[in-house]
Amino acid sequence: MPARNILVINCGSSSIKFALVGEAQAQFPLSGIAERLGQPEAVLRWRRGDEKDCLAIPHAGHSAALAHLLPLVREASGGLLHGIGHRVVHGGEHFTAAQRIDAEVLEAIRAVAPLAPLHNPANLLGIEAAIEVYPDLPQVAVFDTAFHQTLPEHAYRYALPEVLYRDHGLRRYGFHGTSHHYVGQRAAELAGLPFEASNWLSAHLGNGCSTCAIVDGRSRDTSMGLTPLEGLVMGTRSGDVDPNLHSHLARTLGWDLARIERLLNHESGLLGLSGLSNDMRSLEQARADGHAGATLAIEVFCYRLAKSLAAMSCALPHLDGLIFTGGIGENSPLIRSKTVAHLRLLGLALDETANERCVRGTGGEIQATGHPRVLVVPTDEERQIALETLDLLDD
Ligand code: ADP
Repeated sequence: MPARNILVINCGSSSIKFALVGEAQAQFPLSGIAERLGQPEAVLRWRRGDEKDCLAIPHAGHSAALAHLLPLVREASGGLLHGIGHRVVHGGEHFTAAQRIDAEVLEAIRAVAPLAPLHNPANLLGIEAAIEVYPDLPQVAVFDTAFHQTLPEHAYRYALPEVLYRDHGLRRYGFHGTSHHYVGQRAAELAGLPFEASNWLSAHLGNGCSTCAIVDGRSRDTSMGLTPLEGLVMGTRSGDVDPNLHSHLARTLGWDLARIERLLNHESGLLGLSGLSNDMRSLEQARADGHAGATLAIEVFCYRLAKSLAAMSCALPHLDGLIFTGGIGENSPLIRSKTVAHLRLLGLALDETANERCVRGTGGEIQATGHPRVLVVPTDEERQIALETLDLLDD
């Protein structure tokens, strides 16, 4: 059978990120983004090999953008496209693995939309547009939550009255599952261990951040919860705060729910703490220049991350390794070093030369000799989505 090609689509409310993943190719033959959809400035940007290009697609919506993408995909895949893999943020309890999309699956994705009101409707837009533009291709939904459906009840239940779980689905779901799954498998491969019989702590640190405990190839705990706000300090999200914060702000400042949601999701995290930026690169630079807010933001980020990893270690029978991934995890020796320094009780220590070497796509082991394994593993969510899509095409 010739090597197959999958188009991976990650659809937001006004953008579509895409990557053509070739089964046998390490690099994506085509990748890019259609953004500002629905606006006069709508634009399609793409990269093919070393070439970058763009096309103005004024007022294009999701379907029109995909129609503009079609000839590019045809050319880059040599006319051989085998399926489309869609990233879907929330699969609720309904989806424990990727699914071939049919009317029933579409309905189920719609049904869990109240749990992810910003994301699932946007993901559905992308799916519907892709079905319109590529009616003959198999389409697969890959859920951010699915990998975490193996959490035991004691890890996923909130200490709230049962009726809220039973009738309203209020529980911890977890996100970034595609990434934790991918880097867990890669770490096992790099360490020469079977994924199904190895145990990992994983830290995905991008704009959103989460940790995960992986036991025998399955997620057993994770730091995000009902929504991607729970857990770690992130770019603009607060992560854990006292649950009474809402009522305190309402009482003392008169803030309504929309104002508080904006605070916690868009004005907090690294941005709120530093008063400067949500971007770790800028904060590291500012810290080097003596900026007090940036210095504090980095300290809080690393301490809270370490605390979360220590908490996740409760789920592990033993530790085969700690994995750093995501833009920050893959590129910041400083953050890795400061985080691991808080985890001496787990026996962790770094070889700082190896740590400095792991940036810009270079991964590998960075622990000091004789200490538990610490790995930098570049994530590849698009490839994982393509692999899960291919698996379903084989059935
Ligand atoms: P997303 O979650 O949007 O996919 P990424 O995984 O690309 O985001 O991560 C973005 C974060 O990675 C930003 O905070 C960015 O500053 C950080 N980052 C990227 N490169 C570096 C670097 N060299 N040093 C420190 N942080 C970096």
